[in-house]
Amino acid sequence: MRKMSNGSQNQTMKLSKNSWILILIFIVLLLFFSVLFFFRSKPEYVSKVEIALGTTIKVVVSSEKDPGLIVDAILREFHRIDNKFSVTDPKSVISRINNSDNPFEIDEETAFVIERSLALARATEGAFDPALGNLITLWGFDKINDSAFEPYIPSDDEIEEVLKKCGYENVILENDVVILQNSVKLDLGGIVKGYAIDRGISIAKEMDPDANGYIDAGRDIGIIGPKFGGEYWSIAVKDPRGEGSEYIDLVYLKKGTIVTSGDYERFFLVDGVRYHHILNPKTGYPVRETISTTIIAPDAMDADAFSTAAFVLGSEFSAVLIPVLGGQGLFVNAQNEQTRTEGWAFFKEKH
Ligand code: ADP
Ligand code: MG
Repeated sequence: MRKMSNGSQNQTMKLSKNSWILILIFIVLLLFFSVLFFFRSKPEYVSKVEIALGTTIKVVVSSEKDPGLIVDAILREFHRIDNKFSVTDPKSVISRINNSDNPFEIDEETAFVIERSLALARATEGAFDPALGNLITLWGFDKINDSAFEPYIPSDDEIEEVLKKCGYENVILENDVVILQNSVKLDLGGIVKGYAIDRGISIAKEMDPDANGYIDAGRDIGIIGPKFGGEYWSIAVKDPRGEGSEYIDLVYLKKGTIVTSGDYERFFLVDGVRYHHILNPKTGYPVRETISTTIIAPDAMDADAFSTAAFVLGSEFSAVLIPVLGGQGLFVNAQNEQTRTEGWAFFKEKH
């Protein structure tokens, strides 16, 4: 009896020793796979920066397929759109329309962009106006990035004359033909960056529906997909009078676009007065009442036009109009006071 009981005691000890070894192996394996999973669940991002559309374009993509190829395809699309819709390149479609004897036959894509521009001009009561080419050239904002740029302040008379040759009502689009009346000229600078972002996102999705990342075209941002496939991207809204990276708000997006227009983007100073690139189509002068507008909307083309329009319309009116048009906004007036649309708060939470 005693012998037996000794034997079973030994067996228990042996078993428990084996169990310990098994538990240890199990823990080591668990740790190993956790580490492996941790690194696999955070896929790598490929990012590239190039200059297009007069600004810095940063593209950040992660994909199970070839993220580098997707990044390159998006950047190629930006350069293509830049060339095609440029107002300064005489070979661009826009220059050829502007310099032609009307009517001018256009391709489907150009018709689409002009059509959307006109619709957005109507929706914003002409605050966004794609036919301000003559006014923008008078001020020289089309050439502000050139090294030979010289600030020039037009006289009231000059502005009055040029305003007669401005206005989207003078643009007639019929199927594949565009007609510019009263010598107006197109300038799609207020929307083409948005169009390029929308195209970039479409291209990424065509190449890999599960691709994620974002496109940042000088503070006009389009989300390709949630961070690491499921998390929010945190996006800071720049303080228009802050230094460098100071910001006035932080929002979270998994999709959609966020676009900012600021009076600090393209401007020149004469006698301490800031003359910047967003013009009031009614007065012909750079807008004085606003210093920054940020719009969140499902697509970048709308957001881009809305941010320009809100700049012109001012905080109070924009806070009412922009949500009706399908966007949310944060507007900063000349007194540096901030106004947010009611739906803006939604993007301050991670839902
Ligand atoms: P950014 O290009 O700095 O992001 P916007 O999207 O607001 O700023 O576009 C400004 C550009 O749009 C100007 O450089 C000019 O080409 C054009 N533009 C200026 N004023 C207007 C306006 N009221 N409506 C439409 N386009 C405008
Ligand atoms: Mg814009």
